[in-house]
Amino acid sequence: MKAEQLAVPGVRALTPYLPGKPVSELERELGLSNIVKLASNENPLGPSPKALDAVRRMLTESHRYPDGSGFELKAALSAKLDVRPEQITLGNGSNDVLELVARAFLSPQSKAVYSEHAFAVYPILTQAVGAKAAVAPAHDGSRGTRYGHDLQAMAQRVDETTRVVFIANPNNPTGTYLTKTELRSFLGDLPDYVVAVVDEAYFEYVEASDYPDCMAWLSDFSNLIVTRTFSKAYGLAGFRVGYAVSSPSIADLLNRVRQPFNVNFPALEAAQAALDDDEHLVRSVNLNRAGLRQLCEAFAERELSFIPSVGNFVTVKITKPAAPVYDALLRQGVIVRPVGNYGLPNHLRVTVGTEEENRIFLDALDRVLAS
Ligand SMILES: *Cc1c(COP(=O)(O)O)cnc(C)c1O
Repeated sequence: MKAEQLAVPGVRALTPYLPGKPVSELERELGLSNIVKLASNENPLGPSPKALDAVRRMLTESHRYPDGSGFELKAALSAKLDVRPEQITLGNGSNDVLELVARAFLSPQSKAVYSEHAFAVYPILTQAVGAKAAVAPAHDGSRGTRYGHDLQAMAQRVDETTRVVFIANPNNPTGTYLTKTELRSFLGDLPDYVVAVVDEAYFEYVEASDYPDCMAWLSDFSNLIVTRTFSKAYGLAGFRVGYAVSSPSIADLLNRVRQPFNVNFPALEAAQAALDDDEHLVRSVNLNRAGLRQLCEAFAERELSFIPSVGNFVTVKITKPAAPVYDALLRQGVIVRPVGNYGLPNHLRVTVGTEEENRIFLDALDRVLAS
């Protein structure tokens, strides 16, 4: 029998997640150097120097298993977020905790609800556990931010079989966000048999005054799970560490399906030190604000429409099909992200880089669009 036929149905139908192209791969393929990668929403300033020092100091302990309970990182997060340690679940990236949610709450008998253009990991996780998916169309611009989650449409798709609703706030790749008022009202109307996951991967970057801090709502909504990560503003994507905050009973369930040592010890060390480095975080957020403005102003000058973003990336509509433009940018040594697999075939997602990286990208884009 073919291996394909042996796989469970969800896995058979699965298309793997498509990551941003690694710099080393493009170097190999095209023999280029000085590549600019603006493809995976990584922090252009790199990791906090304090995080690197902490890791270096600990490397001699590499023969030891990490602390599987993540006691110290949880204690640090607990103090920072004003939640109890038993509300926290650590993950190998927040991707890992999203997977724990799928494994703990979804089955072939149940359903997940998420939005069109939402983060690609939600459909993958849902399918991998064989659950059904209800995809709500995104806003068309008539009642809410175009391309953004339409909470009314999502609520309409919740039925007796729904167990999980995935909400990205802000969403990737659109950069759109839900306001305090609309999200709170949606959560208040959800039946008590549905777990609401609010994925706040870009939380630290968002400066809009009506953007909610859902952590503050955990005591109001017992089925709320808030996920965050050290991959984006904290600049630690390579270490793989993220977390969920929820009620202690949900955390207990997630803990049952968690690998015993899912977060490696350099990641634990790096994350804890990064949490203490406010200066690096502030510098990162400031650089992002300036870079986002630089990119959006440049798109406006070129009469390219873009989706207004509160994250560290912006998704721009190309006047030609985006796939060949993406390829041509690669040949110029610039990696961005095509988002055809998100239902946006004419858009490219560009991560905010340093001022120079943004300029190199814009110059390359000009050359490509002119040719
Ligand atoms: C990048 C991202 C994540 C998480 O990435 P990890 O590196 O696994 O923490 C989660 N959600 C969204 C919407 C993202 O864009």
